[in-house]
Amino acid sequence: MAYVIAEPCIGTKDSACVDACPVDCIHPKKDDPRFEAAELLYIDPVECIDCGACVPVCPVSAIFALDDLPEKWADFTQKNAAFFGR
Ligand code: SF4
Repeated sequence: MAYVIAEPCIGTKDSACVDACPVDCIHPKKDDPRFEAAELLYIDPVECIDCGACVPVCPVSAIFALDDLPEKWADFTQKNAAFFGR
């Protein structure tokens, strides 16, 4: 079970989570050519180790454990995975 980045990230893409993640599974980073075009940042569901380190650093509270993801944002689970071709 991975963590998921949801709707509040859209238009924010703060990247504090990228720096907090110990396994470097949040993309695209600011120096990635895909960053500008990306709607939001995404968590790789295979690489995520469920540590929760990204949650408190997000300024817009966009990151949720899968079990805590609000139902209205359920489709973000697939959006996160799809960025990595999962
Ligand atoms: Fe990275 Fe941990 Fe957040 Fe998963 S829960 S994206 S491993 S910081």
